[in-house]
Amino acid sequence: MPALQRILLKLSGEALMGEEAFGIHRGTIERIVAEVAEVNRLGVQVAIVIGGGNLFRGVAGGAVGMDRATADYMGMLATVMNALAIGDALERGGTKARVMSAIAIDQVVEPYVRPKALQYLEEGKVVVFAAGTGNPFFTTDTAAALRGAEIGAEIVLKATKVDGVYTADPKKDPNATRYQRISFDEAMVRQLQVMDATAFALCRDQNLPVRVFSIFKPGALKRVVLGEDEGTLVHV
Ligand code: UDP
Repeated sequence: MPALQRILLKLSGEALMGEEAFGIHRGTIERIVAEVAEVNRLGVQVAIVIGGGNLFRGVAGGAVGMDRATADYMGMLATVMNALAIGDALERGGTKARVMSAIAIDQVVEPYVRPKALQYLEEGKVVVFAAGTGNPFFTTDTAAALRGAEIGAEIVLKATKVDGVYTADPKKDPNATRYQRISFDEAMVRQLQVMDATAFALCRDQNLPVRVFSIFKPGALKRVVLGEDEGTLVHV
């Protein structure tokens, strides 16, 4: 029996690159989608917020002199491309999926409408939220916190390359240890990087726990939904 009924999974765009330096790696996306399909088959309602960093980030556009808001809209469009790729891979693998966009782009993706998203989840479809919050100057971490709170997810699962929150950067410090659980307040005092400040504040204020775990560890997502110790739980 899964310990969780409804989850919001945040995938960074970079998670889709695999070992490539850019773009969407087919094998990697299929592997991630297979893990999502498995927990969906267990009866867990899954919503996904996907990033766009593998294709474009607003800050990168800003750095080369672009208007930042325009660059952020490009970043949001990048997340739409990733969301289409995930939706497609889910459907091809036999899992029903719906992509919903925070910006109007109706010929391509249906608009995000909260009751519709809730209906899809209750029908057992995986919902992929595209275009972040729909606003420039935000990130998809914040979109994950926002949509997580809106749909009443029990938790935000932040899938990263590192399998949790560590006392120090494990790549640089061999003595770094993983927190099994840590409060939002302690994470803030210790200046640990969990997610960006806006997303962090929203999750804390809404009492929405976050679990940081590695999407590259086979079976990790399943272990998380079964309530096993995996990654780090950040709680109020
Ligand atoms: N973005 C935005 N508003 C949002 C979410 C995303 O403007 O609500 C833009 C922003 O430019 C960002 C890009 O989309 O750099 C890609 O999202 P993000 O950097 O969060 O992707 P990730 O790091 O998760 O791959």
